[in-house]
Amino acid sequence: MSICLRNIVLSYPDGDGHRRVLDDVDFEVRRGEFVAVTGPSGSGKSSLLAVAGLLITPDSGRVVIDGSDMTGLDRDERTTVRREKLGFVFQQSNLLPSLTAVEQLQMMSHLAGDSVRESRARATDLLCSLGLDGHLDRRPHQLSGGQRQRVAIARGLMNDPSVLLVDEPTSALDENRSREVVALLADLSRDRDVAIVMVTHDLSRLTLVDRACAVRNGTLIPLPGSVPSAIH
Ligand code: ADP
Ligand code: MG
Repeated sequence: MSICLRNIVLSYPDGDGHRRVLDDVDFEVRRGEFVAVTGPSGSGKSSLLAVAGLLITPDSGRVVIDGSDMTGLDRDERTTVRREKLGFVFQQSNLLPSLTAVEQLQMMSHLAGDSVRESRARATDLLCSLGLDGHLDRRPHQLSGGQRQRVAIARGLMNDPSVLLVDEPTSALDENRSREVVALLADLSRDRDVAIVMVTHDLSRLTLVDRACAVRNGTLIPLPGSVPSAIH
């Protein structure tokens, strides 16, 4: 199992008290599996990703990544796990305006201590495999929304994560570009054997996923019609 959440409870301060956003959530995703988490705005989808991504610590419950329990890790240890095991893609691509596509990716592996030459070669390979040959030296303003999102996905994969956490990747894209991005994620989960969790409030994005679930009243329920993929 790439990522496993057990009995996650998360609340935020609310006035004088607390509001429980996640209430005993269990969730797991295997390598090579592409899973959607849906639910209306404000239901707790991004919070779930933030817990899975070790960006916030839940009130209780366990996060297990590649078999290791993350409970009790300090800030630096969590940062290391994030860098080595996890990739993130956010709603807006969050690319740095002054960097080219290749440089956006190189920055990730620079943080991991790779040489410039190594990282440039890997960034180039990855961008080409995502259909971005010809755009390697473009800056974000010279790319379309769909291309920017593909650069962001490539950047999320740069450190070869076990788990890619993707939050509303299509909300800024039109119908065709959205479908392409979801199809790309489906291919990547299979080809690179990475667990992909995609958060989306848009139910029409669920056609290409292996499985989907919805956040309802703080818990996660499987959506009918979505079946677990074969065990790898
Ligand atoms: P979604 O991604 O499904 O739209 P979120 O996880 O962003 O939902 O938010 C779930 C609920 O928690 C919302 O009501 C939101 O206002 C609240 N919330 C999110 N982050 C915080 C925070 N840092 N502090 C307080 N409340 C928050
Ligand atoms: Mg959200």
